[in-house]
Amino acid sequence: LGILYVVATPIGNIEDISARAIRLLKEVDLIFAEDTRHSQRLMQHYAIDTQMMSLHEHNEVARIEQIAGFLQQGKHIALISDAGTPLISDPGFKLVREIRKQGFRISPVPGASAIITALSVAGLATDSFSFWGFLPAKSSGRKQVFSDVSQNRETLVFYESSHRILDCLKDLSEIMGSRELVIARELTKTFETILTGTASSLAKRLEQDLDQQKGEFVLMVSGSDDKPTEMDSNTQTLMAALLDELP
Ligand code: SAM
Repeated sequence: LGILYVVATPIGNIEDISARAIRLLKEVDLIFAEDTRHSQRLMQHYAIDTQMMSLHEHNEVARIEQIAGFLQQGKHIALISDAGTPLISDPGFKLVREIRKQGFRISPVPGASAIITALSVAGLATDSFSFWGFLPAKSSGRKQVFSDVSQNRETLVFYESSHRILDCLKDLSEIMGSRELVIARELTKTFETILTGTASSLAKRLEQDLDQQKGEFVLMVSGSDDKPTEMDSNTQTLMAALLDELP
């Protein structure tokens, strides 16, 4: 039986790919790529001439049966996305779930992901964090997400697109105005920038320098450090009395 390799590719700097990933991309029978034209640059750079086929959000379900068929025939297959680790805000989840269910072997070939790359330089707590993917496009949706997570203790990580980053900071300043934020932009690329501040100070910074609104962003927000609300002595007495009444 064939193996399905889930292969991470660079998030910017073309050299950020493992030796094993390059070897496997050369050795497999077929590469399924989110956008075959986009991935052509990587293939050319590393002289990989394996046949590529597309697997994107619109054809993923249809591809599953075909890929299961290839694996059944003993063909080895690689899955890649445009950048970083497949399945992380990228296609592949339905495929991996179904292929695992059918009992085929799936092997990860790890490498870059913007989440971990951003956290590694942010200087925010990394002992626990949560990832929320792309924020909603509408302001009301974003504010809802921010309110829902505003009491969370762990560092919050979001992906945001360049044309919404400023509006997003404004929404964030309304809901979590006093938090420390880190914006990681264009990681591993020429205009890599890592900015720290509050939502309003960073919004000002981006308004003053339009270049800072361009490119790809990871937004990280420090967790809530509110102390758990302690009960005053009256409340404690009342609680104790009520607890005594419970059956
Ligand atoms: N699969 C990718 C990964 O493992 O990170 C994520 C793909 S998702 C479609 C693309 C988003 O990831 C961008 O909009 C941005 O939020 C983030 N991202 C990807 N590359 C980045 C980079 N070089 N610098 C900052 N953020 C990046």
